[in-house]
Amino acid sequence: MTNEKILELIDKIGDKIIEEKDFLTELDRPIGDSDHGINMARGFTEVKKKLPSLKEKDIGTILKTVGMTLVSTVGGSSGPLYGTAFMKMGMILAGKNAITFEEFLDGFAVAIDGVKQRGRSDRGEKTMLDAMIPAQIAMKDCYEQSKDWKQSIEEGLKKAQEGVEYTKTIIATKGRASYVGERSIGHQDPGATSFTYMLQVVAENLNQ
Ligand code: ADP
Ligand code: MG
Repeated sequence: MTNEKILELIDKIGDKIIEEKDFLTELDRPIGDSDHGINMARGFTEVKKKLPSLKEKDIGTILKTVGMTLVSTVGGSSGPLYGTAFMKMGMILAGKNAITFEEFLDGFAVAIDGVKQRGRSDRGEKTMLDAMIPAQIAMKDCYEQSKDWKQSIEEGLKKAQEGVEYTKTIIATKGRASYVGERSIGHQDPGATSFTYMLQVVAENLNQ
């Protein structure tokens, strides 16, 4: 995975998030404040504007800039959380112009730790982590066994999608959705959904 590919993936993630803006906002209505899509689309619109200036930059710098842009332009809690994820991944990949799939997985693991720390949250609390953590574990396990990154991402995407379904069955204990308590059951988590879109874009566009 080269820096050029990373720029392309982030650009396409931005397009997908912007395309799904209304749906993500709708998901945030019953259990939040109806702004997840608006927040994420605003952040990724700014990210997309910065991408041309990041050509020739290393992967660490690209990811750190994406993270800082999300932190500074997204109002909701998803901004600092996704922002931390991208920044942490950027820190561990500093100076690299190409990474292996293993390095990508290590970076993703560090990103998850960043979200956990920043959000004081973990799996099972009806957040983006319920898609991220199962996806990371599945990709790592699959890659260790098969050394097939394409199959590993497919596996990860499947687990992320299952994670989104799982969020419908549990009560939110973190973020705004925790305010509605038991009434959060039956609704899928917006953040788990937006993350799954990101991984879907990676799965569809990673070919090197
Ligand atoms: P806000 O909740 O401030 O309105 P958004 O609507 O943009 O922000 O984002 C909500 C999403 O953020 C949730 O669906 C959830 O996935 C995620 N989230 C909220 N709080 C946490 C947390 N403490 N840890 C992990 N993810 C969280
Ligand atoms: Mg919200």
